[in-house]
Amino acid sequence: MSRKICALGLALLLALSFFVSVTPAEAAEQLGTWQYRYGDPSLKKAGPQEWVQSALDGDSVWQSFAFPYLPWQKGQNYVWVTTLIHDYQGQDDSLYFMTYHEAVQVWLNDTLIYTYGDMGPRYFGYGWRWHIVPLPAFAGQARLTFRIYSDLPFYLEPVHDFRLGSDRYVMEHVFLSDALYVATLPLILFMLFLLAVYYINGSQDKPIYRDTAVFLGLLGLLICCASSTRQLLADWPVFWLHLSLVLLFLLPLSLNRVAYDVLEPEYRPTVRHILRAYEVLLAVALLAEVLNGCGLDYGLFSLLVLLVVAQGSLILLLWRSARQYNNYSASLRWTVLGMLLLTLLDGLNVSQQWVPSNFSLLPLCVFPLTYFLFTLMRNRLQRERQLAVDALVLEAEEAQAVERSELDELTGCLNRSAYDQIMAHVVHDSQAAFCLIMLDIDHFKQINDTYGHATGDKVLRQVTDDVRMHLHHQMKFFRWGGEEFVVYCPDMSLMEAAGFADLLRQSIAQRSILPERPVTVSVGVARWHGYGDRLTRIFNRMDSALYRAKAQGRNQVLVEQERG
Ligand code: GH3
Ligand code: MG
Ligand code: MG
Repeated sequence: MSRKICALGLALLLALSFFVSVTPAEAAEQLGTWQYRYGDPSLKKAGPQEWVQSALDGDSVWQSFAFPYLPWQKGQNYVWVTTLIHDYQGQDDSLYFMTYHEAVQVWLNDTLIYTYGDMGPRYFGYGWRWHIVPLPAFAGQARLTFRIYSDLPFYLEPVHDFRLGSDRYVMEHVFLSDALYVATLPLILFMLFLLAVYYINGSQDKPIYRDTAVFLGLLGLLICCASSTRQLLADWPVFWLHLSLVLLFLLPLSLNRVAYDVLEPEYRPTVRHILRAYEVLLAVALLAEVLNGCGLDYGLFSLLVLLVVAQGSLILLLWRSARQYNNYSASLRWTVLGMLLLTLLDGLNVSQQWVPSNFSLLPLCVFPLTYFLFTLMRNRLQRERQLAVDALVLEAEEAQAVERSELDELTGCLNRSAYDQIMAHVVHDSQAAFCLIMLDIDHFKQINDTYGHATGDKVLRQVTDDVRMHLHHQMKFFRWGGEEFVVYCPDMSLMEAAGFADLLRQSIAQRSILPERPVTVSVGVARWHGYGDRLTRIFNRMDSALYRAKAQGRNQVLVEQERG
């Protein structure tokens, strides 16, 4: 259920960002037909102004095309495009467009109104930039002419994402096209924070947390590069373009590192080969970039091919690994599949122009990744819960073991070692006031000898059951040894303890434990004398009282003899 809600939420967010990012040009109907002309008159005397004039004159060398699909001509570094625009509000009109590796000049009628770059070769090109050009006021209609230069003929195009409208509309477009990117950044920051916490506080899965965080960080950087706002922060078109190109190579590399951590060991060697392939491609592209200034761009096509082959194989490996109950692999396969689809769609969009090419789908890779993050979180929670349960079980077992070591198995009374511990603890408190009662079954040896050991054991159990029935909450009942028992009676005077002991004696005697003969106990009672008294002394006083009870005929209670 929660998955469905998540999926619905994501779909809504995507749809919203898509519509926001793809708002139609406000003034599309203001444009006339577009015409183009390859080449450049820069070496001629009259220079560019001659071609501007020829556009204004409606020269037949200019040919129409369906903007933005410019018929391609091999080996050309210059193209001119022109169109008629209409003055529709008469004020505050602006042009918005993007250039990719291009320098550009713009004329309104025969006046040069904008220049970017120096219309000739530059080693690292002109980068990736959007432009806003305020239009001088004009009446009726005017001719807009662009002179465009690119170092890379492949990228020579009429300007991208062309828009004409009020200043406000144009600025809105700059910010609204970032809506999706802005929406993903808090998500990325949150996920990075979570992974950092997991990494610091965990001993398991550390490489997975680390490599997923690296991937997220790289994706976050790519999103910054793809946003329009980056240009307001720093107008470094060449830097942003090269950074985003390098990131495009690094991202699959980093994703495969996560897969390497997640997969069952037998599939890892294959991923190592995939990683090598990406590393070699990046190294070659970087070398070519340094040598001729466009290696990264030309490497993109190879990257796309490698992506399909390598990521396709990776998905298969993840599928197999998932069959071995590896739930990280099970989750990551969907994440990788989602990202591969988004990348392919993005690549297709660059050539098909379904959506203005400034809208990159790559930032959306965050969303398939949240699915994997969700699995990491769920596993972590389950592990923590299991640890907590294990700790509780261990604690309970420990308590049980301690209890067992203190109990006498036959009667369930506390044993002699518990007597030593508990009584040492009791007399440690100098304010202690208590009595001890010792019970000894009369002629128990005879019972054993006459009826057997098993009957003797039964008698021991029944006598202790009887005593236990009368015990108060804070009293403790020990089996001192054989058929001798001690009851610890806190906060009792000697007389109270003697009364209680007689109650026990009578209760046992009245109970017909053995039908053939009565079972009785003799009892000795002693009181703790406080400061100066010792455990051995109170025991001896109690024991001698018991001895006297035996000597005086058994089945009776005697208390310690007061000194003096
Ligand atoms: P008295 O009235 O003087 O106390 O005589 P008694 O026979 O009860 O005393 P004695 O100390 O001579 O005998 C205690 C007997 O208790 C000896 C021993 O075999 C028996 N006994 C000790 N522990 C157990 C036990 O766990 N089970 C059984 N069945 N007998 C036990
Ligand atoms: Mg005895
Ligand atoms: Mg006895």
